[in-house]
Amino acid sequence: MNDNLEKQKLVKGISDINLDKLDPNVSIDMEVPEFKEFAKSMVDYIADYLENIRDRRVLSDVKPGYLRPLIPDSAPETPESWEDVMKDIERVIMPGVTHWHSPKFHAYFPTANSYPAIVADMLSGAIACIGFSWIASPACTELEVVMLDWLGKMIGLPKEFLACSGGKGGGVIQGTASEATLVALLGAKAKKIQEIKKLHLDWSENTIISKLVGYSSSQAHSSVERAGLLGGVKLRAVAADENNSLRGAALEEAIKQDLDEGLIPFYAVVTLGTTNSCAFDNLDECGPVANKYGVWVHVDAAYAGAAFICPEYRHLMKGMETADSFNFNPHKWMLVNFDCSAMWLKDPSWVVNAFNVDPLYLKHDQQGSAPDYRHWQIPLGRRFRALKLWFVLRLYGVQNLQTHIRRHCGYAQQFAKLCRADERFEIVGDVNMALVCFRLKGCNDQNEKLLKHINGRGNIHLVPSKINDIYFLRMAVCSRFTRPEDMDYSWQEICKAANETCKE
Ligand code: PLP
Repeated sequence: MNDNLEKQKLVKGISDINLDKLDPNVSIDMEVPEFKEFAKSMVDYIADYLENIRDRRVLSDVKPGYLRPLIPDSAPETPESWEDVMKDIERVIMPGVTHWHSPKFHAYFPTANSYPAIVADMLSGAIACIGFSWIASPACTELEVVMLDWLGKMIGLPKEFLACSGGKGGGVIQGTASEATLVALLGAKAKKIQEIKKLHLDWSENTIISKLVGYSSSQAHSSVERAGLLGGVKLRAVAADENNSLRGAALEEAIKQDLDEGLIPFYAVVTLGTTNSCAFDNLDECGPVANKYGVWVHVDAAYAGAAFICPEYRHLMKGMETADSFNFNPHKWMLVNFDCSAMWLKDPSWVVNAFNVDPLYLKHDQQGSAPDYRHWQIPLGRRFRALKLWFVLRLYGVQNLQTHIRRHCGYAQQFAKLCRADERFEIVGDVNMALVCFRLKGCNDQNEKLLKHINGRGNIHLVPSKINDIYFLRMAVCSRFTRPEDMDYSWQEICKAANETCKE
């Protein structure tokens, strides 16, 4: 009864809207001249922020909850001025920012940043289309198809992955490498289910799924295990060798064991450049083994894949012709701001068919003549991300991007040399790409203290890792502003922290 009264009031309220009071000539938006001033002021701020980023404390030292007292309890009823918003960036935001683009930031892996990509994101924000199908904004799809061809050629991908080869293959921009791993897993799952159904007409889909098993190295990124959980299938971590590399023989042994137990191997993730230590699985061995048993090969080169634009690193992707899908993140090491994760599939139809739902409102007349990228990914909506790839590739050119990669690798060697020359330290494993894994000779406890001192001083930022119970520190060269003297500075900081640690 009460409910009905409430509903009646609501309907009456809506029909009571007085259109005269909603005069469309009274602007609620920012006016164009103001937008231009605001945007110019922001561009000045961004340039100043990035050019002077080295002078800021790299690691934020605020405590949880620092921000709430700095801003009002609720949103303003009436508009504020953009000048006031600008003032609050330094007061409210910057104290809580960890400066990922500072040359003093050496944690995780790099995340990319460049002026061309920032400007492209402005344009993407202005066009603000949702390019889920070709017709939803043809340029959004078509530029992406061509950019993935450009990029594929730049890293020497076999032509079967490229749309321009005229075959089935093609590329897509995913948000992250984790999504690419999941999308590939779902494609592999759909393919294997269909194959097995033809062999065992009486097996239910649930029976087949319960027997599916996938593989990765014990050193694979946590997103691989997560893809298994999300995809509702078993994934096995196969032990890597003494160089933290997954080898063909170990993979074959695991597959054979599972076949003997009546399981159905369907998916293998080969990592080129692991997160722990930038180790490379042996694709040239693992690929043919997986092919022999009808197992889909997905190559995760999230960080290191950018280095394949330099021909001298391409030996590490030997065996790529055996892969079904390949992924790397231009948003990590190729100067394209997050998010831009490039993925190629030799035969996208497995993924497209696995995700194909076709409501009337998403259909269009040109279906089939260009990709409808909504079928290649988890969400429906997608931004115009190819723009930033296009801007970066054109405004840097391949040669400058190669220089960026080579400089970073050179800085890692510079750091490793300093480390080797100090007898208190040791390098852990090989120095691959722009990552140096190192530690104080001694126990894990001492190295944990060393890291606490380094990060506690706040002048540089590193994170640790552990392999086979050996705790070590990871020195990743991350910033495009890094110069040799920054590496010297970081080394001096580590020495000071080591002195403090050794005194204790
Ligand atoms: N795979 C590897 C080898 C990585 O190093 C990372 C992140 O560093 C990922 C996957 C996850 O990347 P994303 O954040 O793009 O999902």
